[in-house]
Amino acid sequence: MGTADLHIHSIYSYDATTTVRAILKQAADVGLNVIAVTDHDEIRGSFEAAQLAPQYGLEAIPGAEVSTREGHLLALFIQTLPPAGMSMIDTLIHIGKQGGIAIAPHPFNNLPGSLSMEAVLGALANPRAKGPLKGIETHNFGTQNFDKVARKLSVFLPFAKIASSDAHIYWAIGAGRTSFPGNTAQELRTALEKNTTVPIPYEGESSAVAILSWVRRIAMRKFGYASDSPSASTPIDTQQITDSMIQKINKVKRQRKKT
Ligand SMILES: [Zn+2]
Ligand SMILES: [Zn+2]
Repeated sequence: MGTADLHIHSIYSYDATTTVRAILKQAADVGLNVIAVTDHDEIRGSFEAAQLAPQYGLEAIPGAEVSTREGHLLALFIQTLPPAGMSMIDTLIHIGKQGGIAIAPHPFNNLPGSLSMEAVLGALANPRAKGPLKGIETHNFGTQNFDKVARKLSVFLPFAKIASSDAHIYWAIGAGRTSFPGNTAQELRTALEKNTTVPIPYEGESSAVAILSWVRRIAMRKFGYASDSPSASTPIDTQQITDSMIQKINKVKRQRKKT
């Protein structure tokens, strides 16, 4: 059995604090086989991860956390970023057309950005949209205190169940992981399609420590610092991020302002 964390944010997300290299380093250190960098309406961090992952003995799936009108949707195995702000149905069709699959992250908890039961049932009733929707997060480290409804309802839904970290800080990576038969990205995809994944939730206490850690790190990010690690053999440390990296991120920010 392999393990995956399919919901991780890099500094390409406006609200996250870890470089792609540090994500890969941490993911390897905590024994994950497959990861997905899923930044908010941004795909480039996931491409960077997919390219560098073999150096860390991992596989990284291209993906993103797409903002649909009804809430967030994880898109995996995609080549093109679905535009933000479309309906959930249109986003699912967009993902399906390019051979991708989707997972409902932190659903049914009434928090901003979370899909409702009505939205998910609406997608299931739509023959063009239901195909790509393969999974549901029954455990999310970031929203762990609000996940009960998703766990109860998941029993009645035809979806693979996954646990993810939704990490916005490096040390949360793997705090919530999904076990699957095999250890490659393709085997993980098969498990999601056959509904044979097993969620392994984070066993610890509430995420208050993570929130405090995030507040500190996001403040440091404003001054140009992020959790980084230059190579697979160097420990993760708070580093000033390089000019080229800042330019890339600023480009993301400018694009966000335009939309
Ligand atoms: Zn989200
Ligand atoms: Zn997220």
